Amino acid sequence: MEFDWDPADLEHRTDVRAFLDETLPDDWEEMSAHGPGSDAQAAFSKTFCGKLAERGWLTQHWPEAFGGKDASPWRHCVLGEEMWAVGEPRGAQYMNVNWIGPAIMKYGSEAQKAFHLPLISSGQVLWCQGFSEPGAGSDLAALRTRALRVGDEYVINGQKIWTSYVQSAEYVILLVRTDPESKGRHGISVLLVPMDRPGIEVREIPSVVGDRYFHEVFFTDVHVPTDVLLGPENQGWDVVNYALQYERVGAARYARAALTLDRLAELARERGLLDDPIVVDKLGEARGLVEAARALTYRVIDLRAKGSPPTADSQLARVASTRVDTAVGALALEILGPEALEYGSFADANFRMAMTAGVAVGASEMQLNLIASRFLELPRE
Ligand SMILES: Cc1cc2nc3c(=O)[nH]c(=O)nc-3n(C[C@H](O)[C@H](O)[C@H](O)COP(=O)(O)OP(=O)(O)OC[C@H]3O[C@@H](n4cnc5c(N)ncnc54)[C@H](O)[C@@H]3O)c2cc1C
Repeated sequence: MEFDWDPADLEHRTDVRAFLDETLPDDWEEMSAHGPGSDAQAAFSKTFCGKLAERGWLTQHWPEAFGGKDASPWRHCVLGEEMWAVGEPRGAQYMNVNWIGPAIMKYGSEAQKAFHLPLISSGQVLWCQGFSEPGAGSDLAALRTRALRVGDEYVINGQKIWTSYVQSAEYVILLVRTDPESKGRHGISVLLVPMDRPGIEVREIPSVVGDRYFHEVFFTDVHVPTDVLLGPENQGWDVVNYALQYERVGAARYARAALTLDRLAELARERGLLDDPIVVDKLGEARGLVEAARALTYRVIDLRAKGSPPTADSQLARVASTRVDTAVGALALEILGPEALEYGSFADANFRMAMTAGVAVGASEMQLNLIASRFLELPRE
């Protein structure tokens, strides 16, 4: 593994920082504290991503044929780190560029590619992810939402839960059972469903994580044409696995944690807490975790840059990243006390994210199960 950055990537980092300085509004930190699901941030993300697209940065890692610049995964990693460090102004659109777009590139029909990819690469569309259901979270293959083929349409009935960003989303990447007789991973398909279809009802689940973060989505006799199918019918499990490999290292959580930690260290210094060797020790330990998560993520990007197939390293990187969030959140509480929970403060935003970090995109225990079976080849008992 080569540890030196390409000078052009370093220059890109400088350019992105300058762009953020001039583009983020003065009230960005406050807007960011409400979370990417808030109305203000959802609207802002379209303006912001439009500007990123104008510069050719939003989907620079995509092939030129699909509106990208064939930039290396490292260049995209630099962009992701800088975005995540300031609170992810791309909002929900980080999903579009990281894994929904690539899944459409790999599995989409020519018509799907021609329609969806330009919308994503110009930063003008919001997607949400309809995977989890009551009773089908960690055990995603237990999902029960059905899409039955009737002529040249699917008719969808069922319920999704914990869906983020849904209230402003124009499309949902939806996991459904298309073979009513099937069980487990078989008979599942992925549909690209417009959210304005009659029969889709969204209910918010209030939470401490942020405004409009979680929702239930109900589908009652929702009719869609069969050409919304992504990839082969009944083989959606492969599509999802492909997409999730990208999702797991998509969010550069360690970059945000590093910044939070720097601010914590500065506050500890101002308050004379650095005289306490235990505080210094804990700050050092947390920094070690940040750097470990960064190195594990870089390993995944290195493999990707070399065109190697995905490995369990993405699960390792994900677990390490979520542990960093939790460690930094706990340390903030220890150093700042109740101040760390003051709504809108930098520590609070981190703390609220940390609470759910080990659950989203597959709980940490499930990632560890996968590491045990795929990486350590331990028996499944
Ligand atoms: C911030 C956030 C955003 C999310 N956004 C979305 C979204 O946009 N779209 C979407 O579809 N979903 C979303 N989710 C849902 C997420 O994917 C699920 O919460 C996750 O898969 C866990 O499922 P669950 O909540 O049903 O918990 P459960 O599966 O019930 O798990 C509960 C606990 O039991 C443990 N457990 C379960 N099975 C095992 C096992 N076999 N071995 C060991 N431990 C086990 C889990 O690790 C967990 O700690 C989001 C979740 C969060 C926290």
